[in-house]
Amino acid sequence: MTVWEKMAVTKFHWGDPDEAQKTAEDPGGFFTRLSAGSRAAGSKAAKRPPPAMLNTNDALLLLQNFEESKRGWFWSSDAQGNLTYLSESVCRLLGKKISEIIGLPINDLFLPAPPYEDQQRTLSFVLTKQTKFDDLPLQARTPQAEIWWAVSGRAYHDKNGDFVGYRGSGTDITKQRQSAKDNSRLATYDSLTGLLNRFRMSNLLDKTLAAFAAQNRACGIMLIDLDRFKQVNDTLGHPAGDALLKQVAERLIKVVGDRDKICRLGGDEFQIILPDNDDRGALGNMAGEIIHSLSQPYFINDSRCIIGASIGVAVSPFDGHTSESLIRNADLALYAAKGSGRGRFRFYSHELLQAAEDRRALEDDLRDALTKGEIHLAYQPVINAASNIVTGFEALIRWNHPERGPIPPSLFIPIAEDTELIGSLGAWALNQACQDAAKWPSRLKVAVNVSTVQFADHQLPKIVEKALADSGLASDRLELEITESVFLRESPNTNAMFAALKKIGVRLALDDFGTGYSALAYLKDAPFDKIKIDQSFIKGATEPASRNSAIIAAIVALAEALGMETTAEGVETLDQLALIRKLNVSHIQGYVYSKPVSNTVLWENCHDRDWQIEPSGPAKQRGNRLSMYRKVSAIHENHSYPIVIRNLSVSGALIEGILNVPIGTRFVIDFGEGQLALASVCRSHEHRQGIQFEDPLVSDGNGGLCTSRRVSPYMLAAAHTPLQNVSPGYYVTADGSLQPTGLPAFTTVNDWKPA
Ligand code: C2E
Ligand code: MG
Ligand code: MG
Repeated sequence: MTVWEKMAVTKFHWGDPDEAQKTAEDPGGFFTRLSAGSRAAGSKAAKRPPPAMLNTNDALLLLQNFEESKRGWFWSSDAQGNLTYLSESVCRLLGKKISEIIGLPINDLFLPAPPYEDQQRTLSFVLTKQTKFDDLPLQARTPQAEIWWAVSGRAYHDKNGDFVGYRGSGTDITKQRQSAKDNSRLATYDSLTGLLNRFRMSNLLDKTLAAFAAQNRACGIMLIDLDRFKQVNDTLGHPAGDALLKQVAERLIKVVGDRDKICRLGGDEFQIILPDNDDRGALGNMAGEIIHSLSQPYFINDSRCIIGASIGVAVSPFDGHTSESLIRNADLALYAAKGSGRGRFRFYSHELLQAAEDRRALEDDLRDALTKGEIHLAYQPVINAASNIVTGFEALIRWNHPERGPIPPSLFIPIAEDTELIGSLGAWALNQACQDAAKWPSRLKVAVNVSTVQFADHQLPKIVEKALADSGLASDRLELEITESVFLRESPNTNAMFAALKKIGVRLALDDFGTGYSALAYLKDAPFDKIKIDQSFIKGATEPASRNSAIIAAIVALAEALGMETTAEGVETLDQLALIRKLNVSHIQGYVYSKPVSNTVLWENCHDRDWQIEPSGPAKQRGNRLSMYRKVSAIHENHSYPIVIRNLSVSGALIEGILNVPIGTRFVIDFGEGQLALASVCRSHEHRQGIQFEDPLVSDGNGGLCTSRRVSPYMLAAAHTPLQNVSPGYYVTADGSLQPTGLPAFTTVNDWKPA
């Protein structure tokens, strides 16, 4: 008897459902369905005579039809699990003849289950149990495309009850599996970029934080927001916006190295999870790299566009234990990064909460600042590099807040831009500068800054014309300073605006060249009269191995060829000045000549003669030290001393507060928020010491410094009290109680009384 026949004979008693019920070894869904179908048919047609029992040939034919329909297939194996039958359709799929297949272990038909699938459900496992199994999903070992089957089997036994093998069936479930996979992808991934979606990221973060809390492990997150994405969407259209987001995703994957750590939260917001990463140096480097990468030009349908990115960083458990608090704090950091000029990253710190409130208050105050007369202009001289003679002034807006004193424009101009106050503020500055300059000797020019928001306003030419007409200032004495970000739109309006302004006869200067988006290509087409090289670029130029001077030389050569002037901004030291002169930059603006002055001082120096200024200033730039007054504590042995930090650099600090500390003394400086830095005294004079850190500090993304790593709040909690709170003269024991330490080694300034 062939396998075929055996199967047919032993299996089918369709005419007798009870008998079918009795056979414990129904080989699977197909048979059961058939017999159930016949039962159903039988019950519907209750009045009809019972269907005749199929003879063997009919059964064989039916089976054959079924197999040929390719809806399913059959198999059987012996007690050892070797195949004794397999439908021909499957043999063909596997690229083998039936004779080659018979005798092979059934397992050979399938690929091994991936390691993450349920191990209990592997075929080998169920076969050894010699029990039935249903719809086990298995992947065919086919040379062609991926095929999946749901395989069922029933063990069968001989008369003595001994196990003799399996009989079973299989159906193709490739399509169902694919659509299930697609569905789970949809639930897991962002359909546009293929990155994780918000839902999945939120799950991942919750799970990671819960697991890490128990293991005292840290986890960093970054929130990324694209700057000016909306403009791309608005000017180039949504499909272009989508294409841009895909490129952004690719660039993020390149920097982060693992797509499953990156999520698109929606719109132009992204989030990155960085488990076991609390090194603020490394996190800052990565954030910087991401900003750099995302700020490179994109090419979309033959259009070139540039966007930027701002990043907020928070690290658990320092900046939050739960995903909500961590994300809220990263969001605050992101907001601060955007507020401080975009294209930056920022770590969360407790002060940010305060800063966010301050900003809201400033916004309210700014609304009335103009009418209350709190705003005025200062003028910084622009000097001819060859003659040291002042050729003009840049008007710089100043806000003297009645309670808070002078507020820097870098703080309030972005607020004005966000709240549309910039329109009235900008128009006021333009009018005031023209009014003032009209009274200066006619050889002196005035430069006024124009924000991108003003530049995008089609009213700008009218406002400029009115300021000139009202003041009587000749148009060629007015220079408008525009930053490169106006090119980021590359809309036809940009060129039209340039043309309209040029038609009025004003001069145009490209401000802050060298910060971020600089491309010499802009210079070719835009009608600039001057390029202002940014101070960060000048500062960098005197650093060893810097390539800035070669680039400045190239800019100067290009500017000369195009008939433009050049101004170096922010020149502070004599070595910078010497370098700038050597590079043939035509004009200089910086503290080495003069800080911004009042209109009165300007008038006194210029009304009856040329104002020639002798440069003066430090010979060289000192290592970037931040002057400050920051109260922290220094821990020595079991004592904590209150100290003040007077200046701080990556490698050291000047501290005040402890008397007569020998050189070589080691302290732990407690900056708060778990920031502990080991330092040793290298200079000491009375109540002042120069200290050197054993591990360098790193940038906090906001011009400040922080320790690379923090001591986890768990450890601080284990010490029962933050070190900062330990009173001088006491130390914390392992059980958390405070113990007097005996005499401290040093006297603090407060304790000190002259003998
Ligand atoms: P900016 O247009 O690049 O102006 C130059 C800035 O560099 C000024 O800062 C100036 O005081 C500062 N500076 C000049 N020489 C030196 C130096 O040697 N060392 C250092 N450290 N700084 C130097 P300021 O006045 O704080 O203005 C900052 C920015 O605020 C300006 O940058 C400009 O973008 C914006 N701004 C100022 N006034 C206005 C205004 O009326 N309208 C608009 N839209 N923006 C303004
Ligand atoms: Mg300027
Ligand atoms: Mg500038």
